[in-house]
Amino acid sequence: MRIAILALQGAFLEHEMMLNKLGVDCFEVRQLSDWHQVKDGLVIPGGESTTQGKLLRDLGLLEPIREAIEAGLPVFGTCAGLILLAHEVEGNSPSAPVPPRLGTMNMTAARNAYGRQLGSFHAEASFKGIDGNIPMTFIRAPYIKEAAGEVEILSEVDGHIVAARQGNQLVTAFHPELDSDTRVHEYFLDMVKAR
Ligand code: GLN
Repeated sequence: MRIAILALQGAFLEHEMMLNKLGVDCFEVRQLSDWHQVKDGLVIPGGESTTQGKLLRDLGLLEPIREAIEAGLPVFGTCAGLILLAHEVEGNSPSAPVPPRLGTMNMTAARNAYGRQLGSFHAEASFKGIDGNIPMTFIRAPYIKEAAGEVEILSEVDGHIVAARQGNQLVTAFHPELDSDTRVHEYFLDMVKAR
C-alpha cells in the first residue's frame, strides 16, 4: 500500500509520521509529476484551504485529483482538506474571488465557523465505526453545516458535524494527526484496503 500526501502547505508531515508509524509507505505530492506515481489513497492535510486551492489550480493538480477521487481513489481530508472536498463552502471572503476547490463531497462546509476565540480547542467524542471516544484537536476549524443523502455522519461535537464519509471520501474537521491516537488513520486505511 502506498499513500500520496498532498504537501503544498500545512500539516502534511504529521500525517506522514502517523502513517509511517502504522507501517504505511507514503510519498509527498508537490507537483504534477509526483501525482503520477502509483498510489492507493490520498491525504489532504489541514492548513489554509485558500492557499492550497490556488496552488492545486496553478500546479495543474486540481483536475487530475478530482478525476481520481471521482473514479474512486480513497481520500482523507482533515480541516482545510475537508473544505477543499466540500461542494459548497460558507465563510469565504465576500470581496475575494471564490477559491478553487475539489468539491467532490455533497456537503456544505462552514469555514472558521467557531469564531476567533473558539477557533482552537480540544474535545473527545464518539466516532461511528470506532469503539470509545476519539481525542479531537480543532484549529480554526470548519464544521459541516449540511450533508446530503449519501454523506454519512460519523461524529458530532456540540451539535456540529465534525466527521463524515461519502463512499471512499473521509473528512474530519479536527486533526487526528496531531494526537497520538491512530484509530482514525486506521479507519482510513481500512477504506483503502476494502477498495
Ligand atoms: N481555517 C483554515 C481554512 O479555512 C483551516 C484550518 C486548518 O486546516 N487547521 O482553510
